[in-house]
Amino acid sequence: GRPLRLSVRLHPYGQGRKLLLSRDVTSVEQAENMRRDFVANVSHEIRTPLTVLAGFIETLQNLPLDEADRTRYLGLMSQQADRMQTLVNDLLTLSRLEGSPLPGAGDWTPVEALLTQCEQETRALSAVLGKASHEFSFEAPADLEIAGAANELLSAMSNLASNAVRYTPVGGRIQVQWRALADGRAEFAVRDTGPGIAREHLPRLTERFYRVDRSRSRETGGTGLGLAIVKHVVQRHGGELRIDSAPGAGSTFSLLFPASRVRTVTRPPGGAPA
Ligand code: ADP
Repeated sequence: GRPLRLSVRLHPYGQGRKLLLSRDVTSVEQAENMRRDFVANVSHEIRTPLTVLAGFIETLQNLPLDEADRTRYLGLMSQQADRMQTLVNDLLTLSRLEGSPLPGAGDWTPVEALLTQCEQETRALSAVLGKASHEFSFEAPADLEIAGAANELLSAMSNLASNAVRYTPVGGRIQVQWRALADGRAEFAVRDTGPGIAREHLPRLTERFYRVDRSRSRETGGTGLGLAIVKHVVQRHGGELRIDSAPGAGSTFSLLFPASRVRTVTRPPGGAPA
């Protein structure tokens, strides 16, 4: 559409124009394809729970059901409504994060405080999914702080930890750790002993709605947007997401934050930062 015509007018030099033209066609087409895919994906993701909900409503209206069945149906309907709510929340989070820089540098937050919250959420999810038998370890240095939007950082951490819970079978080990690197950067890493991911999927994992195993993702409440959110959060903080995984060898997802956002504070024992 429009950007293409504009660039042709602005670059009237023979060969150069041709080159630029073909490059623009590709990027415009790509953007358009991505937009179309995205709309199709969102529609599909919303239509599925909506169809189920509509079916249950019709049943409730037309069939004489006893109390137990009514309760069961309402429970299932509530699950579908929750699923749509999670999806819409994730979509709103993504659109807020995409393409906009972090407003200001953010506040300094001890990574230990973030970890404590992440641990609570992760253990709660593990219990809800009936996988309380995961073997967890949570670690963070007491003196390490990070500058940024604490709520975003927590959501990125919890997304990675919840993926580890959701994809790692009962009895698996999940290690969640913050550490300071020798070069001044900080790393947050989640390691699991889950199924691991084949190499060909790795570059696509952070695409919106990309899933290796669709049914596994849905069963455990996944929207397919988690890693897209994580990637945007870490990029807004000047960092990067690394994925190290192989089938049968478990997965490690790590967030690397630049030294400019990391500091080590000296605290008097039991007190506030000096
Ligand atoms: P979802 O909501 O489907 O989990 P994500 O964006 O968080 O969406 O993850 C994308 C896909 O990456 C998942 O559907 C899953 O196939 C794969 N994945 C993510 N984390 C893990 C993990 N710890 N172990 C194995 N596969 C994972």
